[in-house]
Parts: sequence; structure tokens; C-alpha cells
Amino acid sequence: MDRIPDPAVVVLGGRVAWTGRRSLLPPEWVGARTVDGRGCWATPGFVDPHTHLLFGGDRSGEFNRRLHGATYAEIAAEGGGILETVRATRTASVADLASAGEARLAELHLRGVVHVEAKTGYGLDLESESRLLEAYAFLRRAGWSLDVTLLPGHEVAPEFAGDAEANARAIAEDWLPELVRRHPGVAAFCDVFVEKGVFSVDQGRRIFQSGQALGLAPRVHADELGWTGGAELAAELGAASADHLMFCSEAGIASMAAAGVTPVLLPGTTLFLGMRDWAPARRMIEAGCAVALASDFNPGSCPCLDPLLVLRLGCLQLRMTFEEAFTAMTLHPARSLRRRDLGHLHPGARAAILLWDLADPLELVYWLGADFRPEFPLAEEP
Ligand SMILES: [Zn+2]
Repeated sequence: MDRIPDPAVVVLGGRVAWTGRRSLLPPEWVGARTVDGRGCWATPGFVDPHTHLLFGGDRSGEFNRRLHGATYAEIAAEGGGILETVRATRTASVADLASAGEARLAELHLRGVVHVEAKTGYGLDLESESRLLEAYAFLRRAGWSLDVTLLPGHEVAPEFAGDAEANARAIAEDWLPELVRRHPGVAAFCDVFVEKGVFSVDQGRRIFQSGQALGLAPRVHADELGWTGGAELAAELGAASADHLMFCSEAGIASMAAAGVTPVLLPGTTLFLGMRDWAPARRMIEAGCAVALASDFNPGSCPCLDPLLVLRLGCLQLRMTFEEAFTAMTLHPARSLRRRDLGHLHPGARAAILLWDLADPLELVYWLGADFRPEFPLAEEP
């Protein structure tokens, strides 16, 4: 991350054409129409590479019980937890899901997030996952900048309780091909929750290979609650990302670095669940990984639409420098989504430029809790 003093950014047709010191502006641009940045800092917009944007209902009811000592397992045993969200999602209409999604995207955009990865995964059956894709397709047609990830393997579906193997087979052999056939071009990625008690590494591999055959690049929910070898699986598959990674092994870190897998860390979830095991961001950076940060926005473990909280936790709990954390909210997540035109302000970038009225961008973290909002000098459509 470089800071350019007294800069100019040239924008042509919605793309950055030139960036540098204003004194070095090429003569062909002198005299172009200008937008005065008034001494604010111009930065690329944030890219959020891991959200569960669409779901029905919320889980505020169980939240207070959790604060007062009920465990996740107790709540789940009573039919609460993720299954409560699955029930609410299955009964929501496509229009309800899309309008909730639109409100959440607008909230993120106000705070400077210009591109979002968004997963299915609260349907857990073919028809409900299909309706989530329909809602995402609607949001894309409405102009929101989204990448969609198919996650029917978010949890073992209630219809397959106790038989993850049969659920994995249904996803790999029936659901993924049918979802891609019904909604061509909507999803670019495929994800599986590879975790003890959910899907095993072998079941995950089978689902991911089915997705790869359909053109869906893997993103892996890996090593979140314990070590399962999810990072190693992501490296073996050449995945776009491995996400969570609180219990990632040293071998997993080395294999992600060697395979160019982006580790996506979700510190808001660690905070919200009251866990003490922060992902080993420093060891990943030292191993040469291009670490990214994400919100993990979801109703159970991180109902948070605030990119500044994620940035701050990256610095304060994951021990990243400000420059590392800012790059992890812009360039690295864009790369993990194969979006070469986002997350930077070099020539060719989409002109999704934010202006921050600060003496230095570092203040975004330093003034802890301040609700800074960027300006959009080019009024780029979301
Ligand atoms: Zn997630």
C-alpha cells in the first residue's frame, strides 16, 4: 500500500486511466474536467469476500440466551441455531429475500464496500437453494456488484440428519448440476463447511470436484472450530480461498502459500462468538500468504455490516499492520474473487473510489468506534 502525496487520478469511462503525483500529470489530461478532492484521502472501495447475505428472519432471540450461558449445542438441540434460519429462509419469498439483501447491500455500500461475495446455504435443499440463487440473480440485475457462491453444503440438511455421506452425494451428483443448469452464470464459486460433525475432507473434496467440473472455483469453510485439514484440502484443489482458519496447521499455512490460496480471515466471528482463538494472521503473512479479511455477515455468528470493525479487529486482534489490514480489505479479497479491476487505483481499475476526510487513512483504525463514512466523488452506481 503506497501513499501518494498531492495525487491526481484520471478516470475515463468508469476506469482509472492514470494515477500519480499531480505535478507529473501527462499533458493530455491537463484541462480535463476535475473533481476536487479537497485534501481528502482517495482509496479504492472495500471488497468483502465472505458474506452470507441472504437469509430469512434473525437470531436475536437466541443471542441473549447465549449471553446468559446457554451453549450453541443446547440451542441447536431445541431446534434453534442454524436450523431456525433454515426454516425462516425456506418460508421467505424470493421478493422478501431480495429486498432484505438490497437493504444490507445499501448499508455496506454506505460504509465503503463496493463489491461483495455472497453465499447461498440457508436453504439446504434444492428448491430453497434455487430460490436464493434467483434472489441473487435479481440483485445482480438491479446493478449490485456481487459474486455468488453456491453453499448447499453449509450444514447437514435436516432431511439428511445423521447421514452427511448421503447429503454430500446429493449435493455433488444432483443439486450442483441442477442449480447451475437452472441459473447459468449466476454463481462463480462453490463452498462447503468442512468441519468435524458437518462434512469430512473426503465429502468436501467430492462436492468441490463436482463444482469444479461445472466451472465453480472452490472457496472452503476450513478449520473454524478445530483442525480438520480444510486448508490442506483448499491447497490440493487450487481453491480461490480458504476461510476462517482459526485452527489452521503450520502445514496448512505452508500449503496455502505454495498453492496461492488466499486465506480469508473473519475476526468479527471470533469476537461475536466470544472465542479466544484468533486466526494466525501473522504466521500466514510471514509464510507469504496474501491474507484477506471479511465480515462473514450472517445471522448466527456475525450479524455485522461494518467494514471498519473488521479492519480494526485485523489490526488489534490479528496483529496486522494498518497497511496489511487495509490491503486485506481491498486488493487481496479482489484477487481471491478473480477481480483484477477492484481493490486498487492503478490503471484499469474500476473507478470505485472513496474519499475519506482524514489527515491519514490510519485514523480509520485509530479513532476506535468512530463511524466514518466515505464520500463517493464519482457517484459510481452501486
Ligand atoms: Zn461463513
